[in-house]
Amino acid sequence: MSVKALRSTFGPNCHWCGLPMDFDEPAGRPESATIEHLVDSTFGGVRSSKHRRLAHAACNHARNQFRQQAERQFTQWIVERQALGKALPEN
Ligand SMILES: [Zn+2]
Repeated sequence: MSVKALRSTFGPNCHWCGLPMDFDEPAGRPESATIEHLVDSTFGGVRSSKHRRLAHAACNHARNQFRQQAERQFTQWIVERQALGKALPEN
C-alpha cells in the first residue's frame, strides 16, 4: 500500500500521536507522513504478518530510537544477570 492508499484508508492523522501529518512532496521533514510497519501477533493472528500505517517521520524515528534503547537496556540487564549468576555458588 502506498502513502496515498493508506491515507484514504486510515485518514490523514498519525498512527501514534493522532495529529495531522504533512503530505506535501518532497517528503523528509519531521512532520512528513511515513509508512510504519507494524508487526503484531495479536493483530490478524499471523505472527509474521506486517500491517502498514502512516506515522510522522518524527514519531516513527522516536519509536525506533526508544525500541533500540530498550533493547540495549535489556541486553545490559542480561549481562548483569549473567555476571550475578556466575557469582552464585554451584549446587
Ligand atoms: Zn505523530
